[in-house]
Amino acid sequence: MLPIYVDLDDVLSDTTQSFIKILRREFGKNVDFEDIFSFDLKVSFNLSDSEYEHFFYRAHQPEVIMEFSPIEGAIGVLGEWTKLGYHVSIVTGRLTSAYEASLDWLAKHKVPYHAFTMVDKYSRKNIDSNIAISMEQFSKMKFCLAMEDSTMMAQHLSQKMAIPVALIDRPWNRNANLNHNITRYTSWYDILNDFPTP
Ligand SMILES: [Mg+2]
Repeated sequence: MLPIYVDLDDVLSDTTQSFIKILRREFGKNVDFEDIFSFDLKVSFNLSDSEYEHFFYRAHQPEVIMEFSPIEGAIGVLGEWTKLGYHVSIVTGRLTSAYEASLDWLAKHKVPYHAFTMVDKYSRKNIDSNIAISMEQFSKMKFCLAMEDSTMMAQHLSQKMAIPVALIDRPWNRNANLNHNITRYTSWYDILNDFPTP
């Protein structure tokens, strides 16, 4: 049985809701979640280059990561799938500097999973290639289902890798051009209902 791919930020962890708080605290900016129209937060948050650099640095600090809340339903559904014999593979594009903090967060919330993989999904700077694999290496992996919020990754998974994708509904993916292999979901419970058994 192939593993299930689960993205971390804004699929399993309510990351962007925490980012809104950082933005308010450190830049005095108020942004409504529903107005985050671009996956590029520099654009959605209307930050200068230096402001974005500071924001991005803060967003990857361990104490900030540890404050993220899990998305409602996610951990329970992963537990259900684990009981059914599925393997859960968490695949994140976070900076490699967040490796330890990400594992600590998964342990803190007792997330059931079997593998944790960092992938250079977005060609970011400061990625340690001893920790993160490239998109080319990643593309050889196989999964029975993928859960993503990034339009770019959803298209890559569904088209290049022929994996059915559950796209978690977010303001920044609402204009996405979905193909037949991508289904939009607003709740983890709905995904569980659609993919109940191996
Ligand atoms: Mg994500």
